Amino acid sequence: HTGKLNGKVALITGASSGIGAATALALAQEGAAVALVARRQDRLEELAKTITAAGGKAEVIALDIADPAQAQEAAARTVSTLGGLDILVNNAGIMLLGPVAGADPSDFSRMLDINVLALMNLTHEALKTMTPQKSGHIVNISSVSGRGAGPTSAGYSATKWAVGGFSEGLRQEVRQSNVRVTVIEPGVVATELTDHITHTETKTSYEGRIATMTPLEAEDIAAAVVYAVTQPLRVNVNEILIRPLDQG
Ligand code: NDP
Repeated sequence: HTGKLNGKVALITGASSGIGAATALALAQEGAAVALVARRQDRLEELAKTITAAGGKAEVIALDIADPAQAQEAAARTVSTLGGLDILVNNAGIMLLGPVAGADPSDFSRMLDINVLALMNLTHEALKTMTPQKSGHIVNISSVSGRGAGPTSAGYSATKWAVGGFSEGLRQEVRQSNVRVTVIEPGVVATELTDHITHTETKTSYEGRIATMTPLEAEDIAAAVVYAVTQPLRVNVNEILIRPLDQG
C-alpha cells in the first residue's frame, strides 16, 4: 500500500461489522491510526488484532454512541489515545424498515438516535479538534434512501435525508477551516444491516429482494471512503452514490 494516510488519525463508528469494519481496515492499510467505535468489544478487538498484525495501529473504543455522553467520549478518547483526529467516518447506523402505520414507534427513535443524533454529536465533538488545527475530513454514510423513498422506508429515509441536510450545511460552515465533508450513499450492500429489522413481513420480503441480486461488498464502499479522503486538499468530494449494477 501507498501509505497516503501516514500520520493521520481516523475514527470509524460502527467498526464492528460491515462497511465500518471494511473502512477501518482500508484506512489502516493506507497508514492511518484507527479508532474503532461500536458496542461489540469482541468484534472490535478481533479487527484491531488483524490491523496490528499487518503493522497498523488501532484503538478499541467500545461505547454506545446513541448516548450523547458516550459519543462525546468516543471522540475525546481518540484524541487522547491516538494523539489527534483527522478523519471522522460516521458510519454506525440501523435500518429498521417497515410501514409507518404498522411500525413499533420505538424503531423511529432508535434510528434517529444512532443514524442522526450520534452523527451530529460526534461531528460537533470532532470539530473541537479539526477547526483549530485547520484540517479534517468528515465522511457521513447516508444511503440511496437519503435520495429516494418508498413504502417501508419512510422512517429510515427520514434519518438519511437528515444526514444529507446536516452535511450540506456543515460543508459550507467548515470549508474555510480546511475541513472537508463527504456524503456516501450506498445501495444494497451485503452486511448485517437487515438482521435488526423488527417488522417480520418487511424483513422477509427485503431479504428476498436481496437474494435476487449481486449486492455490493462492504469493501466497495470502503474504497469510496479511501478515494474521498486521499484527494489533494483542493478537492472536496461532496457526494458519492453507488448502487449494485443489479439494483434498479
Ligand atoms: P451493520 O449492521 O453491519 O453495521 C452497523 C454498525 O453500526 C455495527 O458496527 C454496529 O455495531 C454499529 N452500531 C449500531 N448501533 C450502534 C450504537 N448504538 N453505538 C455504536 N455503534 C452502533 O450494517 P452496515 O455496515 O450495512 O451499515 C453501516 C452504515 O451503512 C449504516 O449507516 C447504514 O445505514 C449504511 N448503509 C448500508 C447499506 C446496506 O445495504 N448495507 C445501504 C446504504 C447505507 P454494534 O452493534 O457492535 O454496536
